[in-house]
Amino acid sequence: MQTEPLGLHHVFERAEAVFADREVTGREPGGVRGLDYAELFAGARGLAEDLEGLGLRPGDRVATYAWNTLDHMRAYIAIPGAGMVMHTVNIRLGADEVAYTLAHAGDRAVLVDGALWESWSAVDLPDTVEHVLVMGEAPDLPAVQGGAAVHRLETRPVPERRGWWRPRDENEAVGICYTSGTTGRPKAVVYSHRSVYLHALTLCGTDAFAIGHHDVVLPVVPMFHANAWNLPYAGLVAGAGLAFPGRHLDPLGLTGFIRDSRATFAAGVPTVWAAVVRALHEGRAPGDALATMDRIVIGGSSAPESLLDALTGLGIRPVHAWGMTECSPVGLVASEPCTPDGAVRSAARRTQGRPLPGLAVRSSAEGREAARDGAAVGELEISGPFVVDHYHAPEKDDSASFTASPDGRRWLRTGDMVTVDARGYVTLVDRAKDMVKSGGEWISSVDLENRLAAHPRVNETAVIAVPDEVWGERPVAVLSSTDGEPLDPDELRSFLGAQIPRWQLPDRFVVVDEVPKTGVGKFDKKRMRAEYGHGR
Ligand code: ADP
Repeated sequence: MQTEPLGLHHVFERAEAVFADREVTGREPGGVRGLDYAELFAGARGLAEDLEGLGLRPGDRVATYAWNTLDHMRAYIAIPGAGMVMHTVNIRLGADEVAYTLAHAGDRAVLVDGALWESWSAVDLPDTVEHVLVMGEAPDLPAVQGGAAVHRLETRPVPERRGWWRPRDENEAVGICYTSGTTGRPKAVVYSHRSVYLHALTLCGTDAFAIGHHDVVLPVVPMFHANAWNLPYAGLVAGAGLAFPGRHLDPLGLTGFIRDSRATFAAGVPTVWAAVVRALHEGRAPGDALATMDRIVIGGSSAPESLLDALTGLGIRPVHAWGMTECSPVGLVASEPCTPDGAVRSAARRTQGRPLPGLAVRSSAEGREAARDGAAVGELEISGPFVVDHYHAPEKDDSASFTASPDGRRWLRTGDMVTVDARGYVTLVDRAKDMVKSGGEWISSVDLENRLAAHPRVNETAVIAVPDEVWGERPVAVLSSTDGEPLDPDELRSFLGAQIPRWQLPDRFVVVDEVPKTGVGKFDKKRMRAEYGHGR
């Protein structure tokens, strides 16, 4: 059989050849703008030539610092399409961390969203960066930033089709993403042409995300968060419509854009969808705002059952998925098993899911595989062609992040504590570092959060472990209410007390206006432990 290297060039060339008239929409400062694939690729070719014109060559690292926009999508094609390595910088990192990742990746150029110029201009650029290219509308720009020349980018369509960069070896690097460092600096994960290609194809599978030509795919998940879960490339594989919401990620902005773009498929973290559901229920968003929507992927943190039920009630199929930057990022999808038993099917939908084709998972406890009985808890380990093999230039020895098995497989240790059942469904009990160890027994923060989320007046909630002299650790719940009015701790205690043993009940309920979140919209437990982890 033929051994043509797997790579994004296939995806780009086929998408251009067969889906030229498929639509791509973006919300821009002046309103919603539409392009077709032919225009998108012509613009990307112009951008690739601009990068080459500045002396950038295959293998060079080129960063992006942008919202989910049409310009960012052009960069998603132009950078790998010119053989360069795309580093998507998290725009919510502090200026110091941005500078660290630029230097660590060795970026020679950065494409900056003009709307983000203010936060970008605070970054003290490392010497590696020679060019800053500003996309879209921007204020007056300086000629230089640190040692880099600043250029204003115009879209310059080059419609003549030519082949895109063809890797000689499919393992060549195509992208680089940083995990958010929970201890120490962020870690670098380098994706290859092969891994991105295989992952994008796999996402389109019917029991994965079932992305097809008739879909309009709207990544709410930022394009700087694990490549928007690889949806931009999966969309191009399928020839789907693509929709980019820009910076308008509040419930009203988002529902308005879903209506304008006629999106059928969207993906994001649970907090985003919970806010959208609330806006609909409270009548703040028009009742028909999600009329075109068929499936919504919820991932990045555990999706509360109440959210899955609320989306189902709106006629939308919720798809719960688990991922990690290290897994490209989607690893598990909670597709339904083939059984007439409705209770088994709905229980499966609530798990983190089964491994995608190509991946193997196991749960590991005390050096051996835990039973696949849906009860034994162990650390989730994962292996496969789109799972990281080693971190790029780690600051510390990273060998503890992996284990090897006698068959030669290399397993990534995820730090997630899980059960696995006989059908292969993985249920996350907690992240190892978020579990509460009280009097020698474990309490799952995720379980408490899911139960509290079902309370009608609880808006958002995160449970953290706080040090306790008697018990070692005790759970504390940080919550916000749906109406901004205080919540009654005694009432919450009896609500939970009807469902779980007394010793698992949180010691305190801290009511806040807004539960703190990380740059990618997950609950920021590190910050909450620092803020609320003391006192009784
Ligand atoms: P980080 O959260 O460390 O910045 P990632 O965005 O790569 O990095 O997140 C990976 C982690 O997110 C996983 O290890 C897991 O703990 C959590 N996660 C992702 N998806 C889910 C899910 N569906 N349910 C529960 N936890 C999830």
